[in-house]
Amino acid sequence: MRVLIVEDEARLARNIAKALRETTLYAVDIATDGEDGLHQGLSNSYDLIVLDLMLPKIDGLEILRGLRGEGRRVPVLILTARDTTQDIIRGLDAGSDDYLTKPFDMGEFLARCKALVRRTYDRPSPVVHVGELSIDTAGRIVTLRGQRIELRAMEYRLLEYLALRAGQVVSRTEILEHLYDFNAETFSNVVEVHISALRRKLEAGSPYALIRTVRGQGYVIGEGPA
Ligand code: CA
Repeated sequence: MRVLIVEDEARLARNIAKALRETTLYAVDIATDGEDGLHQGLSNSYDLIVLDLMLPKIDGLEILRGLRGEGRRVPVLILTARDTTQDIIRGLDAGSDDYLTKPFDMGEFLARCKALVRRTYDRPSPVVHVGELSIDTAGRIVTLRGQRIELRAMEYRLLEYLALRAGQVVSRTEILEHLYDFNAETFSNVVEVHISALRRKLEAGSPYALIRTVRGQGYVIGEGPA
């Protein structure tokens, strides 16, 4: 999943980015002013935007209206020092999905981020099931037929993304857009490499293919003939 942080306090932006990256669940981009925030929010495929309100050039509410005006459904969490009830109402009425005031607890912030992303994919439950596979997105725990499977960070990120979109064909481009940040250096067959690793770990000894390749289109997760 990919998150955009729009925050002009450099230290805070770095701390939030670090906390998000440490979960290994998110690719993170940072915009340090409103103009850049709106531009990045409109140009890239984010799963969540963390939005400060008081920003240079374009303020947060204007960014929000800009995104919603262009039909962007990305969940937006306003993170701000403006803490009056009026501010909160204004933020939610402008189209944000959640509102958290500074100072805040990082654990609470991360839990809210996860919840917002789950809702985007229409998965209100933290545990996602695909056939005999179960993915606890809150604890980042994957089990297959009751057996715990250890995955590397990018393998987990890819599996979670496919599982949240189970039954749909997910293109290679979508995978790259949602799993990697702007500065990530990826090699040309990175998706294929992680897909093969997942298949090795999840399909060993099974007559069924859990992840199927749809030629020329992408990948779909869900059990089917190998
Ligand atoms: Ca600010």
